[in-house]
Amino acid sequence: MSIVENLGAVLGRIRVVLKESVKCDGAGEPQLIVVSKVRTAEEIREVLATGHVLFGENRVQEAASKWPGLREDYPDIELHLIGPLQSNKVAEAVGLFDVIETVDRPKIAGLIAREMKAQGKVVKLFVQVNIGNEPQKAGIAPDELAEFLTQCREEYGLSISGLMCIPPVGVDPVPYFEKMKALAKANEIEELSMGMSSDYEVALKYGADYVRVGTAIFGERA
Ligand SMILES: *Cc1c(COP(=O)(O)O)cnc(C)c1O
Repeated sequence: MSIVENLGAVLGRIRVVLKESVKCDGAGEPQLIVVSKVRTAEEIREVLATGHVLFGENRVQEAASKWPGLREDYPDIELHLIGPLQSNKVAEAVGLFDVIETVDRPKIAGLIAREMKAQGKVVKLFVQVNIGNEPQKAGIAPDELAEFLTQCREEYGLSISGLMCIPPVGVDPVPYFEKMKALAKANEIEELSMGMSSDYEVALKYGADYVRVGTAIFGERA
């Protein structure tokens, strides 16, 4: 199937899930983030041509090489950073992205606050939660989230709109999605970014506001 056919299939499956499970948390309709890491500008243009404007990239450098050109033709693009952010890339990331989903430590929060002020730009921010407490994974530990959110607000003057997670691979994601939902509720956070190609339908049933799908649209990454 072509990229456009795959996109249509994913959007169709999302519609089916939404019809079956009444989302009653008062938030708007869940959104599909098309994850375009590793993909060329030409492949991305196939998606843009359908009218879809919401994308995710996981590397600042790669995004810098593709998106300024695409934005010239499609000014409505909304670009999310979904990969780890290093301190020496914060200025560039604030310039490039509309949403940074991977705020995961005080140093980065402080630098983002400083850069937004310097650039006169407000970027929407999500905190990445290491929901499986996996040592190799980025993100704030669930039991440190409340304190980190307070720090973001009080020390850096940042408003955090959402929580993002990448659950452990190879196990049932449901307990993790449920835990994310509970964390969002306990901390009065509105939006949840969770669910990828293998589990986006499940994530939607458990309250995802954004699902991030790459492989199911573009095929396997080399
Ligand atoms: C690559 C990536 C995705 C998309 O994964 P697929 O399995 O290709 O759908 C989602 N979220 C993050 C953070 C990623 O790095």
